[in-house]
Amino acid sequence: MVELRGIHKSFGPLEVLRGIDLTVLAGQVVVILGPSGSGKSTLLRSINHLEKVNRGYVRIDGELVGYRQVGGRLRELKEREVLRQRTHIGFVFQNFNLFPHLTVLENVVEAPVSAQGRPRREVTEQAVRLLDRVGLAEKSRSYPRQLSGGQQQRVAIARALALEPKVVLFDEPTSALDPELVGEVLDVMRDLARGGTTMIVVTHEVGFAREAADTVVFMDDGRIVEQGPPGQVLDDPQHERTRAFLAKVL
Ligand code: ATP
Ligand code: MG
Repeated sequence: MVELRGIHKSFGPLEVLRGIDLTVLAGQVVVILGPSGSGKSTLLRSINHLEKVNRGYVRIDGELVGYRQVGGRLRELKEREVLRQRTHIGFVFQNFNLFPHLTVLENVVEAPVSAQGRPRREVTEQAVRLLDRVGLAEKSRSYPRQLSGGQQQRVAIARALALEPKVVLFDEPTSALDPELVGEVLDVMRDLARGGTTMIVVTHEVGFAREAADTVVFMDDGRIVEQGPPGQVLDDPQHERTRAFLAKVL
């Protein structure tokens, strides 16, 4: 379970997150919608402590992210500890961020071996299964530059899953893709959603939200304006700002 409580984040005078509370149960899929600049990426980055929040906290399966509690106070964890926590939080970016000098298979194997210290043989077997799951079994020896954007993003998803994360965060995973490649990535994400992967997905793909989300969250100006099942938020939004946003993207 992922719990965000009272998250505030400012960049200098700019208050970007203004008190975010969100709970994501194990196996659930939350889709976050909202206009540009509303704080969606900052929120995802706060979950794995890439952004240090000014107030509030994140817990994953009961464990504080980035801090430990000493007496009544929060003490920041050492970088090494934060990196260990981050290996349990998958992150799929808009621009894939694969290692260009490693093959597809090596991209998937790298982090579980180097960051989690797992045996290379075992991780390689798992990576082969994951590449098969995302439909890329034949590409394991290719390099990222030899793949289409959609294929690269599917490798990035396999790489995130290889860490056996407690939650996978997706930040606009299809928005850098040519339209004809979006579907193949969404298909993989739907498969994960059905398979019980806990996911928090920032996307403008309302169709995906409708089919795959347990909860749709609409953010604006650093706040959650409304959240609920897709049928409620997408078809019967309660707030004018949600209606105005949906009128633009639908
Ligand atoms: P988009 O849909 O365009 O990706 P977003 O909802 O993901 O937008 P964020 O990237 O979270 O929005 O940015 C929220 C606000 O915070 C923006 O005004 C942005 O300019 C600002 N911001 C984000 N990161 C930083 C930073 N490192 N330093 C200063 N301002 C920042
Ligand atoms: Mg963003």
